[in-house]
Amino acid sequence: MRDILQQCRSTQLVIEFMTPLIDTHAHLDSDQFDGIRATILEQTQQAGIQQMISIGCSWGSSQKCLYLANRFDQIFASVGIHPNYTSDAEPGHWDRIVEMAKHPKAVALGETGLDRYWDFCPIELQRDYFDRHIRLSQQTDLPFVVHMRDCEDDILEMLTEAYERGGPLRGVMHSFTGDPNMAQACLEMGMYISFAGMVTFKKNDALRDVAADIPLDRILVETDCPYLSPHPLRSKRPNQPAYMVHTAQCVADAKEMALDRFASQTIANTYRLFSKMTVLN
Ligand SMILES: [Zn+2]
Repeated sequence: MRDILQQCRSTQLVIEFMTPLIDTHAHLDSDQFDGIRATILEQTQQAGIQQMISIGCSWGSSQKCLYLANRFDQIFASVGIHPNYTSDAEPGHWDRIVEMAKHPKAVALGETGLDRYWDFCPIELQRDYFDRHIRLSQQTDLPFVVHMRDCEDDILEMLTEAYERGGPLRGVMHSFTGDPNMAQACLEMGMYISFAGMVTFKKNDALRDVAADIPLDRILVETDCPYLSPHPLRSKRPNQPAYMVHTAQCVADAKEMALDRFASQTIANTYRLFSKMTVLN
């Protein structure tokens, strides 16, 4: 695969043979891409990444994601307030997120969820914002993007409450690192499960086993760039959408499937979940 990528960078001719993929979770607004964003987007295209969803973490970052979506056909935006940024949110910010969600290229809500690992923001405030995203999803039918770190019980409790209130949920557990029981519980409530670079790390056999068992019509892949580049590019920083093929290949291997078949299935899943996305001509 690495050979193909290298070849691809040296000649335009092989591009049409690249496996098309969509990066469903990229923080393209990150300042780590400032000054190199044009190059990153060019490499993305050369690597076969057809489209990307740029994920907002605050009002300002969501606005930047929408700006990028306006500027580039292949970029879509998710708007929301990340659990670790909830303390920074000012009173009017949530109303602006609600407004921004109406934009034709705002295809999802989030990144939302809960995080007890960093403990930057009081958990009650995180729960309040997570609840707002879920309720807005239930009102608008836009999917919500869930970040989960060291808080599986809280997440499960809140998702179950929402499920019992409004029926099947429309969302994705992003960069999933939970166990099979957590995956199963989320799937039963309608959620999709997405894997990022961590699934490629050598020690993560258990996570690859989880990925292997996710039904084919509920699985997604992403980079979560600029964070955590996949193996064998772990030392490369920042991570970027062009590296996603390694994650896709790893999950396809875990599922004992050909990469192209797995990739086209993830694209179909992406359009089903993020139904406001339009196919690039
Ligand atoms: Zn993220």
